[in-house]
Amino acid sequence: MNKERSSPTVVNCPTCSAPVTWDENSPWRPFCSKRCQLIDLDEWLTDEEEQEAGSGEEKS
Ligand SMILES: [Zn+2]
Repeated sequence: MNKERSSPTVVNCPTCSAPVTWDENSPWRPFCSKRCQLIDLDEWLTDEEEQEAGSGEEKS
């Protein structure tokens, strides 16, 4: 029952939707590359910062 060779698990990169084979050849999975991983992390951090800044907008 070893069918992994003929049908590898493939996921889509959350950042650019590129197909990523889920094995040791893809160290950045589920991202296709380190760059996409950093982009996703950066967006996540930026979103956090925007939420904080929006809470104290009215100030005179
Ligand atoms: Zn990508």
